[in-house]
Amino acid sequence: MRRDDPKPNASVRPLLEIHGLNLDFGTPRGRVHALRNVSLDVPTAQVVGIVGESGSGKSTLAYTVMGLLSENAEVTGGNILLEGQALLNMPAQARRSLLGDRLSIIFQDPMTALNPVRTIENQMIDIQHHEQRSRSEKRARAVHMLHRVGIPDPESRISGYPHHFSGGMRQRICIAMALLVRPVLLIADEPTTALDATLEVQIIHLLKDLQKEIGCSILFVSHHLGAVAELCDRVAVMYAGEVVEEGAVRDIFHSPGHPYTRALLECDPGRIRQKTRTLPTIPGEVPSLLGSKKGCVFRQRCPSAYDRCIHENPVEYRIGLEHTARCHLLCEERKVLA
Ligand code: SF4
Repeated sequence: MRRDDPKPNASVRPLLEIHGLNLDFGTPRGRVHALRNVSLDVPTAQVVGIVGESGSGKSTLAYTVMGLLSENAEVTGGNILLEGQALLNMPAQARRSLLGDRLSIIFQDPMTALNPVRTIENQMIDIQHHEQRSRSEKRARAVHMLHRVGIPDPESRISGYPHHFSGGMRQRICIAMALLVRPVLLIADEPTTALDATLEVQIIHLLKDLQKEIGCSILFVSHHLGAVAELCDRVAVMYAGEVVEEGAVRDIFHSPGHPYTRALLECDPGRIRQKTRTLPTIPGEVPSLLGSKKGCVFRQRCPSAYDRCIHENPVEYRIGLEHTARCHLLCEERKVLA
């Protein structure tokens, strides 16, 4: 079954639809093809994780949805629809007004989002600029949200500055700010990477509770498979700018269809049962994204690569009701079964 065969529930429109997205960065060494023919849906009120090694394009994809790309980035094909509205050709003013209203983001480093010279109170009131409420109402909502994310004594601590809080507390404040505007889509870009394991678990549980309460969708970018398994409903696996596999969490973690997904899972420290001093890694490196590519992007590191993988880029094959992967082996397996 190919991906373009009709899906079950095809009539229910996803909140976010990404179709055939291609994006290049212009560099002195040439064009870097950072996203290649990326297609991904984020259903309403679901959490979709994006996983992959550094350089796989997962953060670039998140920033493209937010419209927060550097000047040397150019979308060369495809489109992005949020609630059916095309984002890429939207006038800049309309696109900006979606931020902090329909769309919110949590960054890896909370200090990227927080202004160090303004109080938390002022920043949390400013972020509600779309709301027709008095300043005291906005302050009360901010205090309530700080309480909700576990900031002790929020009534007095709201007048503090970011440096008065620990790293974990600052990330909680960022989550409070991002969700205060009740977005339809929250993009979380490695929000737990800078935190220790205990804080990470707390933040994941907090995000899960608040997502259910608010009913928003989350696009959760992470290289931590355990966090993705805990929080997400669906997962997209990215490699060298392509989505190589996508499906429900249980499909990806229990019956991965792509050799890269299997390799990622084998290297996950959370799944290693034996005592070891060295963590396993996937042999080889992510290929350079400069110039055009022929064949499968994973072929230099794939233990199952064969002739066809050098010349032909695999299409997406549906391997379950809502589970797809790009690997020639899936086509070969079907021929054998036929
Ligand atoms: Fe490996 Fe070939 Fe499948 Fe690519 S298409 S993942 S190289 S077997």
